[in-house]
Amino acid sequence: MSTSLNGRTKLVGVMGWPVEHSLSPQMHNAAFAALGLNCCYVPLAVPPDHLPQAVAGLAALGFVGSNVTVPHKQAVWACVDELSEDAQAVSAVNTLIRRDGKWVGGNSDIPGFLMSLEEEGFLPRGKRALVLGAGGAARGIVYALARAGAQVTLLNRTVERGEALVREISRLLPGRSLEARALLPEELGKARDDAELLVNTTPLGMWPRVEASPWPDDLPFPAHLTVFDLVYNPLRTRLLSQAQAAGAKAIGGLKMLVYQGAISFRWWFDVMPPTDVMYRACVDEMARR
Ligand code: NAP
Repeated sequence: MSTSLNGRTKLVGVMGWPVEHSLSPQMHNAAFAALGLNCCYVPLAVPPDHLPQAVAGLAALGFVGSNVTVPHKQAVWACVDELSEDAQAVSAVNTLIRRDGKWVGGNSDIPGFLMSLEEEGFLPRGKRALVLGAGGAARGIVYALARAGAQVTLLNRTVERGEALVREISRLLPGRSLEARALLPEELGKARDDAELLVNTTPLGMWPRVEASPWPDDLPFPAHLTVFDLVYNPLRTRLLSQAQAAGAKAIGGLKMLVYQGAISFRWWFDVMPPTDVMYRACVDEMARR
């Protein structure tokens, strides 16, 4: 947050219900402070039946934009004037941008995931990726990886849900290599030698059930894998500990949270914010809670 709020302060925020858990206010306000920008990012608790009024209200109040989180990522479609290609593809808007008096709905999770992966030195083109889970987050991850040229095998507890997601992404991106299987130890065992990237999009390992992991204890972990766990609380999940113990590269979900935030920030202010400052602000806030 800017040290002195005044009539020229630019406003952004995050609409969710509930929204208290969000780290985005701390993350963005730390970036504003680091850059000396006269801007402020506020949490906006918006009940589902007030979403259209809230979006119209943001325009009336002169907001530059907003993030959108659970449970509004789909419903907010009806409130925007334009949708980006990514938001349309994955049926989810996480960023509103005010442009020429209109609301544009975008999705920064997709470029945020790819940027955080590439920043760690992993380029998905031509690589084999294993994605665990087939929920809302998996949709964006599978789409992002397939579009970036990776071959994707999706493993999900409910195999039909995984198959449906693969069918949907194959329709959007014809000709890509995509398949779905059951999330079972034998399937992990079969896929692990060829895979170069493992992305966990299930909540397994998330606080308070921190002992859980999608990787079975009796299955040796391949050292050649890069592992990206979308879970960010705790910062070091059991899956990441298993990966590190085997000498594999481990990337935590906070990185994606920070990069999706940084990309939204860039869409609003045309400046790439300092991601290290944003990351540190999230870690500090998590330690305070
Ligand atoms: P979701 O829509 O509820 O999907 C959850 C997926 O995990 C489903 O495919 C589900 O399988 C599977 N799953 C749930 N419990 C399981 C279990 N006990 N064993 C095996 N599979 C299980 O959730 P989501 O919105 O995709 O979010 C998933 C995780 O990603 C959450 O931890 C969330 O915090 C994290 N996330 C992180 C970021 C980030 O920026 N780092 C962004 C988005 C989400 P079924 O289909 O069989 O039910």
